[in-house]
Amino acid sequence: MPDYVDSPTLRHERKHVKQWEKRGVKFALDYFREGAIDACENKYEEQAGYVDGGYPCVP
Ligand SMILES: [Zn+2]
Repeated sequence: MPDYVDSPTLRHERKHVKQWEKRGVKFALDYFREGAIDACENKYEEQAGYVDGGYPCVP
């Protein structure tokens, strides 16, 4: 498997895809309600992984 397929960023984004598949449009609404401005306040970003997503958050 090439490196880029398993990069932390892709791993992170794939988790968002899973969240989307699970919840559909509700995910989008919840995501923005959780905090689209501060990712560190967003539980979906926490679930997808702050480090993998490149966010400097302390869990
Ligand atoms: Zn993210």
